[in-house]
Amino acid sequence: MSWVASERYRVRQAPAGLALVQELINTRAIRGYAPDLLADRESAERWLTGATGEWARIHGVDSPDCALSLSDPRALRDLRESFERLLTTAPASGVDPGTAAPPRPASGRGVAVRLAPDEQGQVRPLPVGRGRGWLESALWSETLLAQRAGTWPRLKICRNGECGSAFYDTSRNNSGVWHDVRICGNAANLRASRQRKRIRAAAEGDRDGKDEGTPAG
Ligand SMILES: [Zn+2]
Repeated sequence: MSWVASERYRVRQAPAGLALVQELINTRAIRGYAPDLLADRESAERWLTGATGEWARIHGVDSPDCALSLSDPRALRDLRESFERLLTTAPASGVDPGTAAPPRPASGRGVAVRLAPDEQGQVRPLPVGRGRGWLESALWSETLLAQRAGTWPRLKICRNGECGSAFYDTSRNNSGVWHDVRICGNAANLRASRQRKRIRAAAEGDRDGKDEGTPAG
């Protein structure tokens, strides 16, 4: 088992359990490249089984029951959107959060987790429930741990709007904005450079036009 959604976009993986949040975001489609893994129940259930299995393997616990209802894929897509917003309104994202309130757990009252010490006596939150409920419990637990550990601001969404994949920024000063600068960064720089050239050419054309219209001496 592995993080199939993130691996298909060849992004740098977040450490340990935080990769589950990244994995949820990377279930989204990239047009002309890969489909939405939460598009229907069958596909969503297959993804959830793989992702929760990987999470359970890392944490040394049993995998949850991953059966989904007909309405769950829709709810999972909403959950994905909530986490996308949470990441893009984080202070480190550089995006002005404006007046938008940060997203909250779907229930509105918070999410249940179980606290349990491991063999070394380290207390950790363990997700509870099944299917979508388990996933939500795990996602908010991992968010809490990452926010406390300081790794949360390094989980980012690629600034290229056509890409939008979630990646883990390992740059020294946490300044990365592209999932891969050679793929998304260079394409954006090329577009910006062409745009600047067009503007310059238009301005020069304007000036030439005016010059021609000026009567000589
Ligand atoms: Zn990208």
